[in-house]
Amino acid sequence: MYQLLNGKELSNIIKEEIKQEVSEMVSIGKRAPHLAAILVGSDGASETYVGHKVKMCDAVGFKSTLVRMDSDVSEEELLNKIAELNQQEDLDGFIVQLPLPKHINVQKVTQAIDHRKDVDGFHPVNVGRMAQNLPAYLPATPFGIIQLLERNGVETSGKECVILGRSNIVGSPMSILLTRNAKVGNCTVTVCHSRTKDLKFHTQRADILIVALGQAEFVKGDMVKEGVVVVDVGITRLEDSTKKRGYRLAGDVLFSEVAPKSSFITPVPGGVGPMTVISLLKNTLASAKGEIYA
Ligand code: NDP
Repeated sequence: MYQLLNGKELSNIIKEEIKQEVSEMVSIGKRAPHLAAILVGSDGASETYVGHKVKMCDAVGFKSTLVRMDSDVSEEELLNKIAELNQQEDLDGFIVQLPLPKHINVQKVTQAIDHRKDVDGFHPVNVGRMAQNLPAYLPATPFGIIQLLERNGVETSGKECVILGRSNIVGSPMSILLTRNAKVGNCTVTVCHSRTKDLKFHTQRADILIVALGQAEFVKGDMVKEGVVVVDVGITRLEDSTKKRGYRLAGDVLFSEVAPKSSFITPVPGGVGPMTVISLLKNTLASAKGEIYA
């Protein structure tokens, strides 16, 4: 029988921990942590994610600022706004919600953010420090997964870990974190992508399988071995006329086939998603406390 890696439940626990810390900070006269988000355009999913981040800030007692920019904003205007936020003294961290419109260079934007305020952990300085096991803001989704494994007592040391997907925000940093000599780490990691030959060969030998492809229900029961730990990062909207909103959310893993063979598995929704948001708040709190960069 599998155990659910319940991100909804764990994120609520961590939310209470953060809230407690914030109220202690405020009670001794410090200001509450402050997170800002820049949202370019009005993409439906991005609106939802940013809205959720703002709501979570309110819930833990953070100050939050939402900066909206039109989808036709120039790269220069966006970079100017970033430069402004970099200088804002009462701001502990900020994010630029991805994806950005095609005319804006994401690399340029990522690198324009002061790494000391880069609570999304995408700046090369933070990625480099993470790789060297130095204090850094960890990218929110991989950080959330690490906490999900740690707090559920999942042993990682010496395990074969297979990661499907090599994006800068999930697959690649996840591979760095699980390779490190750290409490949650010490795995032997294989990263697979669209050029990988015989994906099934790799997935079938995984003790820990992390899936971040963006391909709904891609991983089937015959692709995994008994006892595998499965972390499903994927979120895809599939049309479903039986649902009021007209769609359902699907992960990258076919839960009904894979769960019975698993020892631990994340649900979608309610697994990695809530952990991602809470990790962003953890990074912001760490920034406010000067824990990463004094
Ligand atoms: P990207 O599209 O940036 O990367 C997908 C990766 O999967 C790429 O490395 C790609 O390979 C690989 N890939 C795609 N299809 C295949 C295939 N058929 N076989 C082998 N490899 C394949 O995605 P992200 O990492 O940004 O996101 C992945 C999923 O996770 C999405 O559904 C996204 O919505 C979700 N997500 C969820 C979050 C959460 O909080 N729960 C946070 C972030 C993302 P190649 O590099 O060769 O193209």
